[in-house]
Amino acid sequence: MNLSKRAQRLEPSVTLSSAAKANELKAQGVDVLNLSLGQPDFVTPKNIQQAAIQSIENGKASFYVASAGIPELKKAIIQRTKEDFGFEYQMNEVVVSEGAKFALYTLFQVLLDAGDEVIVPSPYWVSYSEQIKLAEGVPVFLEAKESNGFKTTVADLEQVRTDKTKLLVINSPSNPTGALYTQEELEAIGEWAVQHDVHIIADEIYGKLVYNGNRFVSFIELSDEIRRQCFVVNGVSKAYSMTGWRIGYILGNKEVIKAIADLNSQSISNCAAVSQYAAVEALAGPQDSVEEMRRTFEERLNRVYPQVAALPGVSLEKPPSAFYLYPNVRETLTMCGYENVTDFVNDLLTEAHVAVVTGEGFGTSDHIRLSYAADIETIERGVERIKNFIDKKR
Ligand code: PLP
Repeated sequence: MNLSKRAQRLEPSVTLSSAAKANELKAQGVDVLNLSLGQPDFVTPKNIQQAAIQSIENGKASFYVASAGIPELKKAIIQRTKEDFGFEYQMNEVVVSEGAKFALYTLFQVLLDAGDEVIVPSPYWVSYSEQIKLAEGVPVFLEAKESNGFKTTVADLEQVRTDKTKLLVINSPSNPTGALYTQEELEAIGEWAVQHDVHIIADEIYGKLVYNGNRFVSFIELSDEIRRQCFVVNGVSKAYSMTGWRIGYILGNKEVIKAIADLNSQSISNCAAVSQYAAVEALAGPQDSVEEMRRTFEERLNRVYPQVAALPGVSLEKPPSAFYLYPNVRETLTMCGYENVTDFVNDLLTEAHVAVVTGEGFGTSDHIRLSYAADIETIERGVERIKNFIDKKR
């Protein structure tokens, strides 16, 4: 069977395939320590579970619902956004999506024509490039320098801007680096985008996970002009530990939002009603569990960062946000006789039974991604195994 050219060009998600490899070994009875996870390791809070159960029992979850999302959820998104960032979107400026991932997919589908360029600062989250290509756009990778905390600047952006540049993706807080842009940095980028009529896709899915006194700033908080230039993507996966429920959303220009609702209507019809009722409770209900989970991540970060930074050959600044460490292991690789970070990561899994993700999936060849979305014992044992593995090889 001949696959379409589109399908032939598609790369599988490197983060999901790392997890699959780790699970395969686990199924064979191997004691694998998994530091490759891209999701909180907590069960969804009880009040959210209860809201879902209620929507099943009262029959509301039984039927198709609006393609743009149930009105209750759109209202809860608008209210949460207003409380968090001080701006009130209208009902026709919000659409509910099958996770932030499909939100991004649909944005690229409705915004890009063949050959349109999208600037993607690198390291970048694995799915941007493939989703852009699926929409026949061209991802233009721009190195976000490690010396600048893996953040891009207007000077960098100017180097790659052409008359085909249509979009810029900014992911703050960042997966995989944990980088967090300041208000001044976002304003400079926002003003550049307005000036050159480049639209910004702001992936703010990790916005609630910020540590040690750092503050997350949303594009929504900036000037009206900058906000109008942005499509803000968010969701309940990371903040409320709801990755399995698949609810994300987009805020922005109403024509684009309508096009996405139409695309939903012809593809998924609507996001699962039960998940939408759960998400209403997540966004409109008590927020204490968000803070509890955030504090747990913060404690883990503070505990494991020094251990990872002290690994032989590793260089790592302490990240302010998300739940990843993205150490530079170039010297470690040299020390241990590896040319290629992916070989190192593969051997780490098969020989030391620790799963991490190769930086190559995120566009860099000198890094690995470790997630601290695992219990502290697993993380510390994992780091210990990495240390022993390096000591054995060097
Ligand atoms: N954006 C980034 C940067 C992510 O890391 C992820 C998930 O890993 C997503 C979007 C997608 O999240 P969701 O579970 O809402 O689809």
